[in-house]
Amino acid sequence: MAFTSVTGILKTASMQGLPLWEAILEDDCKDRGVNREASFRQMAALWDAMKSASSRYSPEAHSASGLVGGDGAKMRTFGAETSIGGSFLDRIIAEALSMGESNACMKRIVAAPTAGSCGVLPAVLIPLAERGGLQDETIVQSLFVAAGFGQVIAARASISGAEGGCQAEIGSASAMAAAALVSIKNGTPEMSADACAMALMNLMGLVCDPVAGLVEIPCVKRNVVGAVNAVSCADMALAGITSRIPADEVIDAMRSVGEAMPCSLRETGEGGLAATPTGMAAAGKLKG
Ligand code: SF4
Repeated sequence: MAFTSVTGILKTASMQGLPLWEAILEDDCKDRGVNREASFRQMAALWDAMKSASSRYSPEAHSASGLVGGDGAKMRTFGAETSIGGSFLDRIIAEALSMGESNACMKRIVAAPTAGSCGVLPAVLIPLAERGGLQDETIVQSLFVAAGFGQVIAARASISGAEGGCQAEIGSASAMAAAALVSIKNGTPEMSADACAMALMNLMGLVCDPVAGLVEIPCVKRNVVGAVNAVSCADMALAGITSRIPADEVIDAMRSVGEAMPCSLRETGEGGLAATPTGMAAAGKLKG
């Protein structure tokens, strides 16, 4: 995919008279020299892999470090009548935790856009598909929207925690998911752009500070934040709330913030939570 701006995606879709997902699919075909069927089939395979990763979640599995595991199961069995957010929010939280834990346990996941942020998109798409009885085709179309916006973020800023902090990983995943959710709900392309912008700005400045350098703490739980943020921003956009800063400018600002972050907060495991007494003790124990 060759888009380098959100405005470019919207303009292309409008000029071609296509929905966002289709303009992005067409661009993918041109960029990679594949036909529509192949492009759609590959995206559908990713959706299948997300669902399969969700169904293969193991409640007993713990990461090799022993730092994470089992929280997805706790959330899955937590009663909706007890929880504050209700059953739909519970389901999103459980899915995000489960996927993050599966990644930490070296299970097969879909990096979307990265392994550390693999829980965000499935956490919003799987529960929504179940609740709304949505066709796989609709979800796959929304994944094209997510991919198009993700491509722009990668091109203008970064999707790597080592480069731009966690805002570039969980923030990007959240922005992609927010844009995708709007498209599922038949929002306008502008609403997808607003949802993307709001999701990214909400997580701007988020540092990458994995304890012991492992993609476990805080990564697993940050997937929850990314997913819940995506739902909130998609709903705000669908309600007609706009981002006062355009998506491309938010993405550019995210790049600047990432560049200004010290190395200790960019996946080195030296700052933030990794540098807390408990974080350092965990790292020391693993080394010893
Ligand atoms: S803290 Fe770093 S390693 Fe963990 S999810 Fe965020 S960017 Fe990825």
